[in-house]
Amino acid sequence: MVCSKMKYYKSLEDLIECFQMFPGIGPKTAERLALFAVQKLQKEKVENFSEVLLNVLKDTKKCSVCGCLTDKDVCEVCSDKDREKTLLVVGSTKDIITFEKTGQYHGYYHALGGLISPLNGVSPQDINIDKLFERVKKENIKEVIVATSANIEGEMTALYIKNVLEKDGIKATRIGYGLPAGGDIEYADEITLIKALESRKEM
Ligand SMILES: [Zn+2]
Repeated sequence: MVCSKMKYYKSLEDLIECFQMFPGIGPKTAERLALFAVQKLQKEKVENFSEVLLNVLKDTKKCSVCGCLTDKDVCEVCSDKDREKTLLVVGSTKDIITFEKTGQYHGYYHALGGLISPLNGVSPQDINIDKLFERVKKENIKEVIVATSANIEGEMTALYIKNVLEKDGIKATRIGYGLPAGGDIEYADEITLIKALESRKEM
């Protein structure tokens, strides 16, 4: 006699698969989350969760000036006319939030939404970089501070920015001190970031 093997039912398998869409969630964690959801979550909680998820998707736009994620056409920082005329260039919105938390930077930002990476087929045209050069001219920017991560992609992107700005005679600096080689901005603590900003060097 051949016994049939017990598996999860279809809708539960579907939920496990959904959780696996998220970065860093493997099959085991997805299974745990799905089992928690079917056993512990009330219907209102699930309805609220799906509503929150749909809302954030509906609200999310990119700032038409700096490219960060926002629910407005122009984000709060770009709308603030009292900031210093410097541009801090970062990879993503998450890095902007990290720098804002330090309270030590008072200029504007530019979110590239990616870094140049020939290995992964990402060229300058694929990221929000032309807009950066337009802004530097249009907004009378005094200094561009490149705060991309200290890995190969971050360094290549910084070099590209430096080369373009150099032709226009714009001062470009690079943060660095205290940031571990290969280190992501998102893993740096606030003191390290403040030190990195203070000790920026001309490229
Ligand atoms: Zn903005």
